[in-house]
Amino acid sequence: MNAAAQTAIGLDEVRALEERYLMRTYKRGAVDFVRGEGALLWDAEGNEYLDFLTGISVCSLGHCHPAVVAAVQEQAARLMHVSNLFYTEPMARLAQRLSDSSLGGRVFFANSGTEANECAIKIARKHAHARGVTASEIVSFESDFHGRTYGSLSATPNLARNEALGPMLPGFLSVPRGDAVALREAVGERTAAVLIEPIQGESGIHPIADEALLAAREACDESGALLIFDEIQTGMGRTGSLWAYQQTPVRPDVLTSAKALGGGMPIGACVTSPAAGEVLEPGDHGSTFAGGPVATAAALAVLDVIDDPALLRRVRELGEALRGRLGELEGIEEVRGRGLMIGVGLAEGIEAATVGADLLQRGLVVNVPNPSTLRLLPPLTIESEHLDRAVESIAASIARLR
Ligand code: PLP
Repeated sequence: MNAAAQTAIGLDEVRALEERYLMRTYKRGAVDFVRGEGALLWDAEGNEYLDFLTGISVCSLGHCHPAVVAAVQEQAARLMHVSNLFYTEPMARLAQRLSDSSLGGRVFFANSGTEANECAIKIARKHAHARGVTASEIVSFESDFHGRTYGSLSATPNLARNEALGPMLPGFLSVPRGDAVALREAVGERTAAVLIEPIQGESGIHPIADEALLAAREACDESGALLIFDEIQTGMGRTGSLWAYQQTPVRPDVLTSAKALGGGMPIGACVTSPAAGEVLEPGDHGSTFAGGPVATAAALAVLDVIDDPALLRRVRELGEALRGRLGELEGIEEVRGRGLMIGVGLAEGIEAATVGADLLQRGLVVNVPNPSTLRLLPPLTIESEHLDRAVESIAASIARLR
């Protein structure tokens, strides 16, 4: 038993507390994690797990990466918070790094992915308003996921259909995923933005074809709308380039980041082109916590490690090799994705939820985004020995359950 396990109250008691005191918004796996290091996690009983989910692509450098821990500890001991009424150096330096590594404009910091998208939506609406469009529209793809606050939720077609949470914000439309023709038809005079994930994550890892991305770029250029890429899951090296758009023929006007940006600290960012960066003015947007010294110091440490051509090349190579090996397994019908953002489509009759639960029992953490798909988001620093272990576990689990 490890040191952390000795102080933990254990799964049963944690469950009892949750059952009494937490809102029932999450379905959880039956594990109480108490410690993480690199690609490994340990539960309160001291059992070891290999993490192929990384907190849904947040701990992309693995758990408790020494550089991130040191940055957080150092900054937390010096200055944790002063609000956005004053200057702080880590925020300004992080904005510079994000802008210089992508679209070259300005950055607004937020505390989460959904908030980063709220900023992008405000920019799009105000940008359209400057063209004289008052009832503007934002177009997304079916099955896109942009978050759970009302703006982002309204742009998330599957969730926006939940009438009990309505009414949603007006002016959000969707077209079938990857349908270049439908997208072109939907974008017109009134369009403020096309807001899409270049690779859909929550829906089960579905890359959008270059043809559809090019159609979105052209439609935006013709209509004056902004092209916004939600890179909250695809960004920060996950696909083998710092940003996913860099492996496509298209450059967006705005991109949003969160998840892996803070290496485990909550932070989001909306990054713009030079022109889109001029849209918001004092009073248009703000947040008390956003861009605080600890989260931005952590993000700078994360970028120091991830923004490295050798690491990114390795992500592409490992991803290709892993997808190839998974594709050869019996019971796997399709392997989708780019880099280390991988969706495993199981053959008919194999329930992903059952496989996911079985894998957890075997000590492999994966996610099940829909009834036929496993989602794999391992650390970008994963060792080949861990890749072997994961492939063996998945093969054994499917063989038992098919
Ligand atoms: N956009 C994408 C593509 C996401 O994958 C997510 C989260 O899963 C979000 C937005 C929302 O991010 P958050 O949960 O940090 O609000």
